[in-house]
Amino acid sequence: RLFVEQPLGPGQIRIEGAQAHYLVSVMRTKVGDPVKLFDGVSGEWLGVASMVGKRDLLLDVTERLREREHVPDLWLCAAPLKKGRVDWLVEKACELGVARLMPTLTRRTVVDRLNLERLRAHMVEAAEQCGRTAVPDLAEPVKLSGLLRDWPEDRTLFFADEAGGVPALAAMQAGGAAAAILIGPEGGFDDAERDAIRALPQAIGISLGPRILRADTAAAAAVSLWMAAKGD
Ligand code: SAM
Repeated sequence: RLFVEQPLGPGQIRIEGAQAHYLVSVMRTKVGDPVKLFDGVSGEWLGVASMVGKRDLLLDVTERLREREHVPDLWLCAAPLKKGRVDWLVEKACELGVARLMPTLTRRTVVDRLNLERLRAHMVEAAEQCGRTAVPDLAEPVKLSGLLRDWPEDRTLFFADEAGGVPALAAMQAGGAAAAILIGPEGGFDDAERDAIRALPQAIGISLGPRILRADTAAAAAVSLWMAAKGD
């Protein structure tokens, strides 16, 4: 399966660069071979290789195989983590079906520079692997204060609060269809941040159990619970 940035429809497309290398050298694509394509907007299409060069291919896009998926309306607001962990987090967020990923900068966020290009490439790879026909939006990093200031009226913010939230699943089942999950950094939220989050009318502190989870574990657990409760 291949994600292509260009809008898909019946016709011919050229594949070059790393994607061509993957099809030609890794997948050993031959003329006549089928390739599943998606552009994140119009669903999944069937392409058939009509020319296979050393560095590029031509694919005849013939039919739409699947409509674009319905994406459950869940945002994941997570403090950026160290390289390996944030890569894992964005990959799992994509596999688990989130609509949008919002890197949220908190006082104890240890990462100062986020490579959004790299994170988006990880999400595209995860979408190709898990069969999604949509790739989550990756927002520009935002400060927690800004996130709370501009919070949308109609969206519940489940914030993972190891210091005393309510049981997550019941709270999520009772919540609306538009939701977000907020996860702190490795060092957690500080008291002022916790108070500011709690002051948001749409915020509900949720507990993910009595143990202190790593932030990436907490993100995957909370998204899984929400998908079990409300995802479709
Ligand atoms: N305060 C933690 C400590 O004492 O080590 C540090 C934060 S924890 C490693 C990272 C984040 O994961 C927290 O900010 C919180 O959002 C989430 N988290 C971890 N365990 C949790 C739990 N049992 N319930 C809810 N959220 C949890």
